Order: sequence, then C-alpha cells, then structure tokens
Amino acid sequence: MAAKKVAIIGAGISGILSCKHALEKGLNPVVFEARSCVGGVWCSTIDSTRLQTPKEYFEFSDFAWPDSVAEAFPDHNQVLDYVRSYAVRFEVVPRIRFGSKVSSLDYCLSSDDDDDGGGGGGEAFSCKGKWKVVVENVLQPLQPPMVYEMDFVILCIGKFSDVPNIPDFATSSRALFNGEVLHSMNYAAMEKIQAAEFTENKRVVVVGFQKSAVDTAAEIAKNNGPKHPCTLLFRRVHWVSSEDMVKFTFRNLTRFSELMVHKPEEGLILWFLAIILSPLRWIFSKLVECYLRWIYPLNKYNMVPEHSFLKQIYSCMFMILPRDFYGRVREGSLILRKSNVVGFYEKGLVLDGGTSHLETDVVIFATGYKSDEKIAGIFSSLEFKKCITGSSAPFYRECIHPRIPQLAIIGYSESPATLFTFEMRSKWLAHFLAGKVPAASGGGDGGEREEMGGERASLQPRKLQ
Ligand SMILES: Cc1cc2nc3c(=O)[nH]c(=O)nc-3n(C[C@H](O)[C@H](O)[C@H](O)COP(=O)(O)OP(=O)(O)OC[C@H]3O[C@@H](n4cnc5c(N)ncnc54)[C@H](O)[C@@H]3O)c2cc1C
Repeated sequence: MAAKKVAIIGAGISGILSCKHALEKGLNPVVFEARSCVGGVWCSTIDSTRLQTPKEYFEFSDFAWPDSVAEAFPDHNQVLDYVRSYAVRFEVVPRIRFGSKVSSLDYCLSSDDDDDGGGGGGEAFSCKGKWKVVVENVLQPLQPPMVYEMDFVILCIGKFSDVPNIPDFATSSRALFNGEVLHSMNYAAMEKIQAAEFTENKRVVVVGFQKSAVDTAAEIAKNNGPKHPCTLLFRRVHWVSSEDMVKFTFRNLTRFSELMVHKPEEGLILWFLAIILSPLRWIFSKLVECYLRWIYPLNKYNMVPEHSFLKQIYSCMFMILPRDFYGRVREGSLILRKSNVVGFYEKGLVLDGGTSHLETDVVIFATGYKSDEKIAGIFSSLEFKKCITGSSAPFYRECIHPRIPQLAIIGYSESPATLFTFEMRSKWLAHFLAGKVPAASGGGDGGEREEMGGERASLQPRKLQ
C-alpha cells in the first residue's frame, strides 16, 4: 500500500485531515500547497474574522483546543494556531511541499489497457491509469513545471479563495469608473495597517451580504468613523445571528431535531413523525426570528428578511454579526443600503435600475467565489470539467464523483461545521484507499464494513476519450 502514490492538493483543513488519515492507514502521501503556509483560508482573513461555529463543534476528534483558548468563538489567529498545531502533532508538515501550485491534472490510461476505461471497478487504485500532476514552483516561477505520476489524487483546494465571483456589470462598465475596484480576497490579503491606510479618508462601498461583506464593512467603518462612512450595499437581506443564538441553535441540533426533517429513503414512520413534528419546527423558527428582531434594530433599518430563519439554516448560510455592528450604523459610520447595482459611472455606482447614483472612491466586491470554476479548471480533460460544472448529482459520500477515477474531493460541500464533516470524509476516504470499503462488484476485504456502516461503493467510471 505504501508503494501507491497519493497526491493531496492543498494544505488547508481538508488537506491536513486527508494526509493525517492516509498516513494512519500506512499510505505515503505527498501534499502540494501553493502558498507558504499551512491552514488555507485561515492564513489570510481580515483582522476581525472569528470562527462562526462554536469551537466545540469545530474541533478535531483526537485533538482538543488548548486551554488557553477560552473564547467560544476563537479569532482567526487562534484558529490558525490550532490547525497548525494539529498538522505538527500528526506529522503532516514534513509531507507538504510548499510553493507548489498544481496547474493541471491529466488522467492517462496506460497504453496496454486503453480500451478498458481506466476505472478501478470500485477500487481506489487501478493499474489501468494514472494521474499526471503538473506542479509549478511558485517561489521560482522561471523553473519549468514538474510532472508527477500518481495513483490517486485528493483535491482539497477549498471553496473560498482564488477565483473571485465578480458581477457581470462590473466587467462591462468598470472602465467608466475613476476609483478603485477590488475583491474582498485582495482586501483580506493586506496587512492590517496596509488595509487601514488603503481605505483611510476614502468613501468605500462594500457589495454583498455574506460574512466577508459584513466583516469587511464593519472593519472599515470602525477605522474610518462617521466622517467617511462605509456603505454596505446588498440586494437581499439574510438572517444574521448573535453568538448566543448560534450556540443555542447548535446545541439543539440533536437526534431529536433530526426527526423533524424527513430525509430521502427514510420510511413511512419517520415521514409521519416529521409531519407531526413540523409545527415544532415552525415554532422554533418564529421564536428565533422574534428574538433576533428584539436584540437587533431590524425593523428600524428595514433589515427583516423575506424568508424564514429555518430556510436560512437549511442553506447553511448563517452568520454572526461582528460585535457592535448596529452601534456603527447608529453612529453613522456604517450605512446599510438595499439596492440593485446596474453598473459603474465615472464617480461611482449606478443603482436602482439607473434611477440613482452612489458616489464613492473604492468599491470592494465581497460577492463570493466561483468554486465550481476553480475545481473544474484544474482538470485538463473536458469530460472531467463537465462532471464538476454540468452535473447536479451529489458526489458519492460527498467526496467521489463516480465518473472521475482514482480521485476524491474533500472540502467541496457546505456544512455549518466544516471541520467535523471534513474529518468524517477523510476517515472514510482513508478506509477506501486502504481497500477496506468493499466494492459493489466484490473488491476489498470488507474487514471494516461494520465500522463504516456496511458501506458499498459503486464507482464504475466510464471510458474516457
Ligand atoms: C472568512 C471565513 C470564515 C469561515 N468561518 C468558518 C466557520 O466559522 N465554520 C466553518 O465550519 N467554516 C468556516 N469557513 C469555511 C472554511 O472554508 C473552512 O473552515 C475550511 O477552512 C476550509 O478548508 P479547506 O482545506 O477545504 O480549504 P482552504 O482553507 O481554502 O484550503 C485550500 C488550500 O489549497 C491550496 N490550493 C488551492 N489551489 C491549489 C493548487 N492549484 N495547487 C496547490 N495548492 C492549492 C490553497 O493555497 C489553500 O491553502 C470560513 C471560511 C472563510 C473564508
């Protein structure tokens, strides 16, 4: 097994976990990491970013938070220290090749077997095909890229970095605007002092209403004060939460609350139980909404969302407001504006279908990332690109696409407590790589079938062009 070559791409939380569990199964993985640090997104966030998940739900199962972290929601430095300590403790760091950016992945069939599709027949490894991993040296860009042949690839390149999502209007009308335009990831990459100097004495508009938008706007408002207020510009209001409320919600996500939601393939009794319990779900949602309207001046600033709190939870897009967010709104250093942006003009943004204008010096797009594009972009095969972007089919065990052989993706699906789900998937994947998950066609020794819940993998890839 150790002779099999496993490449892990990315040394964020999912890459570290994949490596740790692969090592435990006696594999010999190598981790390619484009940056010079361990921890992925936690290496460069804006200064005020804190964990949004209570720390007890964002904890490695075999590595507790240190006693020195007393906060329920640690800040980004504490998260980074914790993740790095884990990587050191489980000897993941020596496996990482820093400054190594994987520019493409090419699946090649060995010439003897090129009529057989290259699939593993439900096995992780196959002698019929290998991945060619092309790696650029970021620290010495003039060096020619290296090409490695690998038996299995685990993609852990993250969802919230590298390929920014910029609205179409910005691309078409950017040239008209005399001010500066950037994405929140560029702002987050600045040092604290550099970021404060960049926005000092400037009118700044932050576009978006997700975590990075709200955090960025609050931070700029704090630095600039009411003299140069920062505007948070958004199309739709979302439910936001307080630390207490998030703790309460997490504690109530129990086996009992699970019964309130009917899930695919559950039987008639559980379906009936979910129907009977649905009023409880509704009451919970309404109570939370009332509480949030009570603690925040949502009515006063027209910030009550049109959808229910329950819908917000289902989308996994909940966020904790930065401390004193509405204090900044009250003092006038933060302006909340709901509007549809149409485009740029020379002094700022055109809003509300062209009927109003907003003058500004800087526009920061905190409008998310194109994670599909990022993952698809790494494959040289059009077939595999289509598997990522053209299909709404869920991945097997949320990590394996049945048409992409000898490859898994960790860190792609959403969850309110990502570390926990990444850990579960990494464990399962390590079992699969170790041949402990029996294939539908009868592979593997099945020795750990019980431990993994009698799992049966059916992973027949189709023939590649
Ligand atoms: C501001 C912010 C706050 C968050 N807060 C929470 C929270 O409170 N709770 C929660 O559960 N989740 C939160 N998340 C989600 C977060 O994404 C996960 O917690 C987790 O850190 C993601 O880890 P990852 O390893 O999947 O991806 P990343 O952390 O993005 O790591 C990916 C790594 O892959 C590397 N990489 C990318 N492309 C290549 C390539 N081609 N070649 C080589 N290396 C490459 C990158 O350099 C990076 O180091 C937050 C995310 C952000 C951005």
